[in-house]
Amino acid sequence: MKKLALHWKILIGMVFGIVFGLIMLSVKGEWFVNDWIEPLGKIFVKMLKLIAVPLILASLVKGISDLKDISKFKAMGLRTIIIYVLTTVIAITIGLALVNTIKPGEGITQETVSTLKAKYSNSDKAATIITNARAQKETGPLQFIVDMVPDNAVFAMSNNKLMLQVIFFSILLGICMLLIPEKDAKPLKDFFDSLNEVVLKMVDLIMLSAPYAVFALLATVIVSADHPDILLALVKYAGVVVLGLALMICFYLLLVSVYTKKSPLWFLKEISPAQLLAFSTSSSAATLPVTMERVEEHMGVDKEVTSFVLPVGATINMDGTSLYQGVAAVFIMQVLWPEGLVFSNQLIIILTALLASIGSAAVPGAGMVMLVIVLEAIGFPSDLLPIALALIFAVDRPLDMCRTMVNVTGDATVSMIVAKSLGKLGNLKVKNWDDNYEDVK
Ligand code: ASP
Repeated sequence: MKKLALHWKILIGMVFGIVFGLIMLSVKGEWFVNDWIEPLGKIFVKMLKLIAVPLILASLVKGISDLKDISKFKAMGLRTIIIYVLTTVIAITIGLALVNTIKPGEGITQETVSTLKAKYSNSDKAATIITNARAQKETGPLQFIVDMVPDNAVFAMSNNKLMLQVIFFSILLGICMLLIPEKDAKPLKDFFDSLNEVVLKMVDLIMLSAPYAVFALLATVIVSADHPDILLALVKYAGVVVLGLALMICFYLLLVSVYTKKSPLWFLKEISPAQLLAFSTSSSAATLPVTMERVEEHMGVDKEVTSFVLPVGATINMDGTSLYQGVAAVFIMQVLWPEGLVFSNQLIIILTALLASIGSAAVPGAGMVMLVIVLEAIGFPSDLLPIALALIFAVDRPLDMCRTMVNVTGDATVSMIVAKSLGKLGNLKVKNWDDNYEDVK
């Protein structure tokens, strides 16, 4: 009998997780899920994060030191950043077009606002989000570049939040290996080649537990979700975000089929394990090892491209997040501050949501912290900020799951485009769908 493909196994795990979570809710068994199921999901996410830094280091150093000259790297870098910015602007524009046409804020009654306000606006969560966002904002305009440069490589590698610093160090190391005589660089290159292979094998091993881990992750999400009544009140707003995200996926599929001439269905099938993990973990950083493995070994994008485009994308390219920020900002204005709905503010939203998505960390809930910066940029009254966040809290987690999926798909799409434009698409290492996962069993 033909073995079930990995994405089906993960999907089945997700469905079981949801059903189990609902059953536990109905028998008041939340404690059981929190005590005995949630840890499994946490361990899985930690394992994925564990290999992110070694993977970025090994694959980026290998990718760059494999290039025969540095001008190729410049071409790739420039192309990547330009395409990332363009796709993000398109995402925000789609979000704004939808939210201004569908106007989900108009259906929200004063009663709903009061319920949400009572439930969330005085919570510690709202205060923490606002404090975090303000701390980010208080830095100067060039601070994000300063932050990219590590002053201690080992320290940078010891902190998952400093991914951009690790990328910076790896690029510098790779470039310097190109600049010294080949025979002197060889021992180091062999070391990183080997490390890269080993880490990719770790991804395969970890992925064996993915179907069980997503079961745990989704059961946990279900038992910690809000009351269905509250979710229902926000269904129109959530629907607009999801519709925008779906349109974004269609846009990626169009790009893939028109530019790289690959079948969109093939693309979806190959990237789906990464998408499903992004959905289950709400973290592009945790999903990065799997995204890299899928794009490299199953979609035929050269390591030289994936090693740069994907880690950079996971940290700065968040189309789903920026689309969500655009929709959320306008939705909040429709409900709480209609006088702010002027054209100039929509332009400011495009710019700040672009910057905010670059600045958002690739972890759960980061998009909401940066939303505060978007709102402050348009002059949203600060006394209404806790109420604004209260308004969208209840549906933030499910939307986070969806937008993370789009963030990861966007990175994979751009890596295909950059690879195609540089003649680095092809050479499938793994022909069979599950080869990689089977041979570690
Ligand atoms: N969770 C998202 C990610 O990791 C970021 C966000 O939108 O909150 O890509």
